[in-house]
Amino acid sequence: MEQQEKRGYVQVYTGNGKGKTTASFGLALRAAGAGKKVFIGQFAKGQLYSEINAVHKFLSEYVTVRQYGLKCFLSKEPNSMEIDAARAGLEEMRKILASGLYDVVIMEEANIAVKYNLFTAKELIDAVEQRAPKTEVIITGRYASQEIMDYADLVTEMREVKHYYQKGVMARKGIEF
Ligand code: ATP
Ligand code: MG
Repeated sequence: MEQQEKRGYVQVYTGNGKGKTTASFGLALRAAGAGKKVFIGQFAKGQLYSEINAVHKFLSEYVTVRQYGLKCFLSKEPNSMEIDAARAGLEEMRKILASGLYDVVIMEEANIAVKYNLFTAKELIDAVEQRAPKTEVIITGRYASQEIMDYADLVTEMREVKHYYQKGVMARKGIEF
């Protein structure tokens, strides 16, 4: 029991339904409430989303956020600047993971980074594998690769049953971003 509590597991939130990013930030909120230290590294995205704003405003004592993406969400062939930013991010997170300074480390949209070949699944798994044993890791984003799902201890797939974007509802501030 004692040992189980001290070991950090690897969780993956994937699938094309809504809820992956909000689930990971929800976990950050819960961990902060328990006095735990959290690091969130966000790949492929660089805008100041409301959830990041909330962390800066209300949770900065416990939660640190860094973004490794450019201004717009990656949706076409990545350019060399996007690749460089993601690779530098993974290097930074490798050190964060190994440092033992954080109880929870969230690799936001890391599945997307792998999907767009910013880095490989193997490079991601290597960084996670070399973490401090107590550190819990959350990897989010659609299209989780089979290698990452096989490696993880927990995989949740958000399945889209329906979504209002099909009715033409655009992303709303405070709800989607
Ligand atoms: P959330 O951030 O709400 O938890 P998510 O992390 O599961 O969602 P992502 O795949 O990261 O979802 O997508 C980012 C946002 O874009 C989500 O809020 C989602 O609702 C929205 N979205 C997803 N697919 C579409 C689409 N085809 N058109 C418009 N918006 C979409
Ligand atoms: Mg997301």
